[in-house]
Amino acid sequence: MNPVTVLNFIDGSFVLGRGGATISIYNPATSELIGTAPDSTAHDVDAAVEAAANAFPAWSALSPAQRGANLHRLADLVERDAEAFALAESRDTGKPLSLARSVDIPRAIANLRFFASAVCEQTHEYFSNEHARSIVHRRPLGVAACISPWNLPLYLFTWKIAPALAAGCTVVGKPSEITPITAWMLAQRSIEAGMPRGVFNIVNGRGPLCGAALVAHPRVACITFTGGTVTGESIARAAAPTFKRIALELGGKNPTIVFADSIHGDDLTKTVHGVARAAFTNQGQVCHCGSRILIERSAWERFVPALVARTRGLCVGDPLDGATDIGALISGQHLLRVAAAVDGAVRDGGHLLCGGSRVDPLQLPEQNRAGAFYPPTLIEGLPATAKANQEEIFGPVATLIPFSGESEAVAIANGTRFGLSASVWTSDSDRAHRIAAQLDCGTIWINAWMLRDLRAPIGGMRASGLGREGGQEALHFFAEPVVVVTHEPTQ
Ligand code: NAD
Repeated sequence: MNPVTVLNFIDGSFVLGRGGATISIYNPATSELIGTAPDSTAHDVDAAVEAAANAFPAWSALSPAQRGANLHRLADLVERDAEAFALAESRDTGKPLSLARSVDIPRAIANLRFFASAVCEQTHEYFSNEHARSIVHRRPLGVAACISPWNLPLYLFTWKIAPALAAGCTVVGKPSEITPITAWMLAQRSIEAGMPRGVFNIVNGRGPLCGAALVAHPRVACITFTGGTVTGESIARAAAPTFKRIALELGGKNPTIVFADSIHGDDLTKTVHGVARAAFTNQGQVCHCGSRILIERSAWERFVPALVARTRGLCVGDPLDGATDIGALISGQHLLRVAAAVDGAVRDGGHLLCGGSRVDPLQLPEQNRAGAFYPPTLIEGLPATAKANQEEIFGPVATLIPFSGESEAVAIANGTRFGLSASVWTSDSDRAHRIAAQLDCGTIWINAWMLRDLRAPIGGMRASGLGREGGQEALHFFAEPVVVVTHEPTQ
């Protein structure tokens, strides 16, 4: 396929970055150049923010149903072209095409549809007592900056722009510079969907240049960001002087807690599959991946060999092959970071149970030999305080940690600076809920992982973020509650 030329989308038109510089986009499964995108600067950001600010009065004046109808039309077009979106997402990220088809693109469609409908279900809150009658109006904030990462590109981009647009904000989106293609394809569909000019804009470029200019822009009212914790810190600092509202969805070091009662009889297979899926989906590059597997000591002997066998059985290879479970990491550079983290874990005393070094290119199909393939890796023998148990690796790497009893499990689970999510595997539902009540994180799955109801809030505590996305929480983020109070004379 010929490389694509991704452009900025400003005021309803596709434009080059003003400086003319571009960023190359590679397929990490083949190392092939698949496109270029503008390396935008503050000038491009200014133009996009101005377009969004100009479009705001008319867009925010539309009824929720009219805004929702625009989003439904956009969802229809993504659905129509779902296969093209899935292929583009797989090529841009190296993820299995099967995953892009079954998760990324369906979820992007669901995001658009969900917020298109949810905004129509909003009602005015109304309070009345013997003195006063109060009506809460939710007024859209203005221009929303939506900054998204590379691991679930269209899934997370739409998770931000859909509630922003539904709530009545106009948007300047900044997809990851590593994976800008599906957002650009979405912009093309937005024209076909009849989205008014300037309502939805995209600037492409690097974080420290283009992203930082967007965050600092005085006419941006709010920032919703998903990405790394260090970036989140810098965004919080940069946004503070102008009092912009911020929502930060950051990293995780999520525990998967396996109790012995979850592996009796046939349950072993179910639990092993669930735990492996939580650790290795999308090459371990999901912020909710369970990268610390806490195992009750009495379960160790039966559970660990079964988990190792399952992990060794995962098929690493060509993302376009239907049999592939694990595709390529996002880039060769990221592969080096993951490999360095594993080497560091081994130096710290960790013992490799499987994986642990780059996949031998000769074991890969010819077209993938220059790709960034790293096998699913399990490491045991490290204290809970070791670096590999404290820092996010964001790759197909999980550590195994033994525990005895519920309180030790909870102490280890809560013993990092993160607090994004956890999963608990047990056949005892009282225990599951007892543990859930003690875990300091935003989402706890019981005998499950990544099950979602889009009405429920999702987000992290501590270094995993600030604020919640999902449902009414997301719509509320993009609006200022304004209360109008009238005197209610006592009867
Ligand atoms: P990143 O922080 O490097 O980049 C994310 C986005 O921010 C990109 O668009 C990037 O260009 C932009 N950016 C970078 N520096 C910026 C700056 N100074 N100002 C403004 N924008 C800037 O993250 P990444 O490497 O793309 O993604 C991986 C990280 O994202 C992991 O830490 C992962 O845990 C996290 N993540 C979190 C969630 C969640 O919901 N909590 C979901 C997915 C990914």
